[in-house]
Amino acid sequence: MFKKILVANRGEIALRVIFACRELGIKTVAVYSEADENSLHVRFADEDICIGPARSADSYLNVPAIISAAEITGADAIHPGYGFLSESAYLAEVCEACHIRFIGPDPNVIRLLGDKAKARRAMKKAGVPMLPGSDGPVDSEEAATKIAASIGYPVIIKAVAGGGGRGMRIVKEPKELGHAFRTAQREAEAAFGVGDVYLEKYLESPRHIEYQILGDHHGNVVHLGERECSIQRRHQKLIEESPSIAVSEKARRKMGAVVVDAARAVQYTNAGTFEFLMDAKGNFYFMEVNTRVQVEHPVTEWVTGIDIVKEQIRIAAGERLSFKQSEVTFTGHSIECRVNAEDPVTFVPSPGTIHAFSIPGGPGVRVDTAAHAECTIPPNYDSMIAKIIVHGRDRQEAIARMKRTLEMSVVEGIRTSIPLHLRILNDPDFIAGRLSTHFMERFMPVKKPSTLAESA
Ligand code: ADP
Repeated sequence: MFKKILVANRGEIALRVIFACRELGIKTVAVYSEADENSLHVRFADEDICIGPARSADSYLNVPAIISAAEITGADAIHPGYGFLSESAYLAEVCEACHIRFIGPDPNVIRLLGDKAKARRAMKKAGVPMLPGSDGPVDSEEAATKIAASIGYPVIIKAVAGGGGRGMRIVKEPKELGHAFRTAQREAEAAFGVGDVYLEKYLESPRHIEYQILGDHHGNVVHLGERECSIQRRHQKLIEESPSIAVSEKARRKMGAVVVDAARAVQYTNAGTFEFLMDAKGNFYFMEVNTRVQVEHPVTEWVTGIDIVKEQIRIAAGERLSFKQSEVTFTGHSIECRVNAEDPVTFVPSPGTIHAFSIPGGPGVRVDTAAHAECTIPPNYDSMIAKIIVHGRDRQEAIARMKRTLEMSVVEGIRTSIPLHLRILNDPDFIAGRLSTHFMERFMPVKKPSTLAESA
């Protein structure tokens, strides 16, 4: 087992990794930017090193600074969390070259699955159900027009290097295709440095369902069931739950076996998530694989009782998975709300100093946060300041728990998405579980359908 792990992240996920290390008896190193000097992850780690100014490109994305920090402190592994460098094949490779263990999949696997067009091809070969689309990147408007005509409108243009819900364009009619194609290429180039895009059938009202998997270095792969992540704004998840009420036990087992086989086919190791769209008939279609721990992993931890971050660490250290698929059981229902520092109506970010902060616990409540009274939320990073996760015997109890927790939460000094979450939790469609990725449109300040493609 590792003696010391450097956590290459900030905020709640850095704390989450530090908690796992403490419980496993592993020392920790926090890295931080000048904006995060007083953060809890710095306070709770055994050692800490400043790796640069507030700007992410100069600190949390600064590979030489992070590797130097690991070498100076003698860390034998790096946990990248999510976001920042978590899906960087480059960091994983540099770690390998420096004899530091990267807690994640092999760099070749990260590179393969990080290219969405290549991932589509590999997964199709492994027997994963796909939406009709282009076989790889599309390099000209003419080719795009042909493919779109053959799969039928609407189609979605996506960046091969896309992520974080960015770099997507929905095209409803042939006359919109040329402009959308050119814009998508330009945007992809600007956002990801790679202009390649591909085409896929656009599903009108799908659910977003994803499967959590874990694979060790001894050929064992298990799935931990699904998460329902249909409540999204601009393709960014807001509320997640496990299990999904739209997935039967039979479907869970069937799709679980599909993802386990697919993971084996690419020799996947460590934690990963297979994301799917599900249509009204219950058909699954592959979207992408995220090669890291996800923001929403706690809902899976709660229904399975498996500590995903500890498993990541054990797997990276070469240990075998300590349980078999047949030992994975699902109990009750778990829901997560992402609390963002933003206006609950306009969604404008609301960084600043928090003066009062209290999220009550009580039975069935878990709060993952690095925020506290008198802490400052810098404007430089993601606006998520806390995750409230609840568990109940069933979905109804979980909803009731989430509501009472949100109603009794006090966050003063900044605006948060808590009032928005309460509106969603009181919505009859949410309560009935009638969910789709378009659910949030009713809660948006601008509802014109044409703006959807603009904002995508
Ligand atoms: P990212 O990597 O940026 O998160 P994804 O491929 O995971 O991108 O897609 C994010 C979201 O975009 C999905 O959850 C879904 O809401 C929407 N989306 C993506 N592809 C399609 C599609 N073919 N049809 C309908 N919606 C889609």
